[in-house]
Amino acid sequence: MLRTLLAGALALSLAACSEGPDGPAPGENGEVNIYSSRHYDTDLRLYEDFTEATGIKVNRIEAGADALIERIASEGEFSPADLLVTVDAGRLWRAEEAGILDSVSSEILSERLPANLRHPDGLWFGLSTRARVIIYDKSQGKPEGLDTYQDLADPAFRGDICVRSSSNIYNISLLSSIVAHEGAEAAQNWAEGVVANFARAPQGNDTSQIEAVAAGECRISIVNTYYLARYAKGDESEQAIFEKVGVIFPNQDTTGTHVNISGAGVVKGAPNRENAIRFLEYLTSESAQRNFADGNNEYPTVTGLDANSAVERLGEFRADDLSVAEIGRNQREAVEIFDRAGWN
Ligand code: FE
Repeated sequence: MLRTLLAGALALSLAACSEGPDGPAPGENGEVNIYSSRHYDTDLRLYEDFTEATGIKVNRIEAGADALIERIASEGEFSPADLLVTVDAGRLWRAEEAGILDSVSSEILSERLPANLRHPDGLWFGLSTRARVIIYDKSQGKPEGLDTYQDLADPAFRGDICVRSSSNIYNISLLSSIVAHEGAEAAQNWAEGVVANFARAPQGNDTSQIEAVAAGECRISIVNTYYLARYAKGDESEQAIFEKVGVIFPNQDTTGTHVNISGAGVVKGAPNRENAIRFLEYLTSESAQRNFADGNNEYPTVTGLDANSAVERLGEFRADDLSVAEIGRNQREAVEIFDRAGWN
C-alpha cells in the first residue's frame, strides 16, 4: 500500500517537473507553423493559450492571403507551413486550386463545425462567419420594397446604390452564391440591374460605403457585418456614423442572408501535421471560438455560441445554408459576369 502511494507520489512529482505548474513547457511537444492573413490581438492570445494547454510552440508568419498562398506554393515541398489561416471561401478556394491544401479527417471538427461551413473533403474548415448585408441611409427612411439582394436590381432604386469594386472578393463571393441559387443567367441579369442603379462608379472599401451612406452620398450599399460592428463599438464619432445607418439582413423569406467564413486548412506536406490538426480542433472549443470570432467581430461557427454584443446588436437573422465550398467553385463565373455587366 505504502509502496503504491510512494510510486504514485513520485510519478506525480516527475510529471510536475517536466510540465511545470501550467502544463507542458512551450515547445516541449514540438511546434506548429501558422501562415495567417489575420492580425488581431485576440489571435495572439489564442496562440498563447494553445501553447500553454499543449506545450506546442506556435510560430507565425503574417501577410496578405494571396501572398501567403503564392509563398507556400513556391516553397513547395520545402515549405515549413503547417496551417493556412485566411478569410473568405473564395480565397480558400484559391489555395485549394493552387494545390497547397491537404485533406484532414477529424471527428472533433466534423462534429463541431456545420457541414456547409467546411470543405467536403476536409481541405479547409470555417472557424467564424460574417454576413454580407444591405445598409441604407436612415434619414431617408427604409427603402420600400428592399428586402432581398434581388431587389437591389429593381429600377425603383435607380441612382441609389454605392458599392465597392467587383475585384473585391466579398462581392465575387456574393455573386457566386447567386449563381449557385439561381443560375448564371439570372445572376447576369441581377448584376446588370444593380449596375444600372449605381449612384457612382464602384470605389473604396466596405468602410467607405458605410461612411458614404451615413453622409447621405448614397442611399443604399452592401457591406460585411463586422465593419458595422466596428462602428457600433467605436469612439463617439464612429458610433454617430453607425446610428445613421439602417441594416437589412436580406433574403429572410427566401435563401437566407449570404454568409462567408474565416477559415483554415492544413498545408500539403506540413512538417507538423498532427499539431496543425490539434490547433484546428482547439479552435472549435468554446473559449477559442469566442476569441477567434471576437477578434474581427464575427459569429462563432460552432452552433449555440453568441457573438459579442456589438455584433448581436445588428439583429438576429437566418443565414443562407449554401455550402460555402460552392461559393468557391463559382468564382470564375462570377468574375466573368461582373466583367460583362460593366461592374468594374
Ligand atoms: Fe474585410
